[in-house]
Amino acid sequence: MVGTELEQVADELRSADKLLLTTHENPDGDALGSLLGLHLLLRQLGKDAAMFLAADEFPLPHEYRHLPIDGVLNAPPTDLAERLVVFLDCGNIDRMPVDFLRADGIRIVNVDHHHDNTRFGEVNVVDPSASCTAELVWRLVHELGAELTPPMAEALYIGLVTDTGRFMYRNTGPEAHRMAAELIEAGASPHAVNRQVFESLPFRRIELLARGLQRVQRFDDGAITTTYLSRDDFVETGADETDSEGIVDHLRSVEGTAVAVLVRDLLAEDRAGLRKVSLRAVDGEVDVSRIARGLGGGGHTQAAGFTTALETPELLERVRAEVGEQRG
Ligand code: 5GP
Ligand code: MN
Repeated sequence: MVGTELEQVADELRSADKLLLTTHENPDGDALGSLLGLHLLLRQLGKDAAMFLAADEFPLPHEYRHLPIDGVLNAPPTDLAERLVVFLDCGNIDRMPVDFLRADGIRIVNVDHHHDNTRFGEVNVVDPSASCTAELVWRLVHELGAELTPPMAEALYIGLVTDTGRFMYRNTGPEAHRMAAELIEAGASPHAVNRQVFESLPFRRIELLARGLQRVQRFDDGAITTTYLSRDDFVETGADETDSEGIVDHLRSVEGTAVAVLVRDLLAEDRAGLRKVSLRAVDGEVDVSRIARGLGGGGHTQAAGFTTALETPELLERVRAEVGEQRG
């Protein structure tokens, strides 16, 4: 089934001359790694492939600032109608909230690994067994008979290592390690990626983390471990929204936690009064994507999120009730 889907996507890519690649808002390592990896692959095949990210995504999260995505577009290309549009790592089309990509007549290819993907493309490859979207791009490299170059390998390795939680999450299986081995053979450097992505934190991140850790709360005998970051926390530390990445992972490491929750104020003027909630499940007992979907978001069973206007106490009540229901 998925094999056939992958072949269909490969056919689409092969027969397109002009393409536009994009990924979800607030792009993470898998989003950017897949985007860049597929871009390099298509360029190798001689295609006119462009990448698109909305202007407000810049600057990119600190850990990805070195990624060579020069030339990425921030506005629709004038020849958009001639381009095949490829969405990467997007569970639904609203993950890239840009109207021009929804215009009539645009042909969409959807490459993703979210189990709740709405299959919004004309052609879709959706494989929830893939550890990351970068894994699907890696399979496309083979399917299209391309050569895995060092820059391609490094981009895809970043997707793999971030989406698997450095090979620690439940989506880490033999295939993730086989992919890693092949990418390393092709020139990806685990040490260099580790230094760039995980060990070059701006100091403001540690200050933000300290604030988050200082006010951790636990509910329901420790099953829920939660914290929040206010607008003031961001302003006073000089942090931007992407600097909160990874804080929720500290909460999931607390013994007895079934679900970790980070609530943070959104900073953009047009999002004042809204909060972003990150959910992480620890042991497979709770499907956090169900909770997120019920509140207008989505994601994976183990990592999901949503944006809400609910006040923090009220939204924690909702999350607690849902976790309680799922745990029986
Ligand atoms: P994070 O908590 O790191 O922002 O997001 C974790 C995962 O949840 C993401 O990889 C993505 O799959 C999903 N996610 C986060 N926010 C949203 C959202 O607003 N809508 C949907 N559909 N998925 C989200
Ligand atoms: Mn992903």
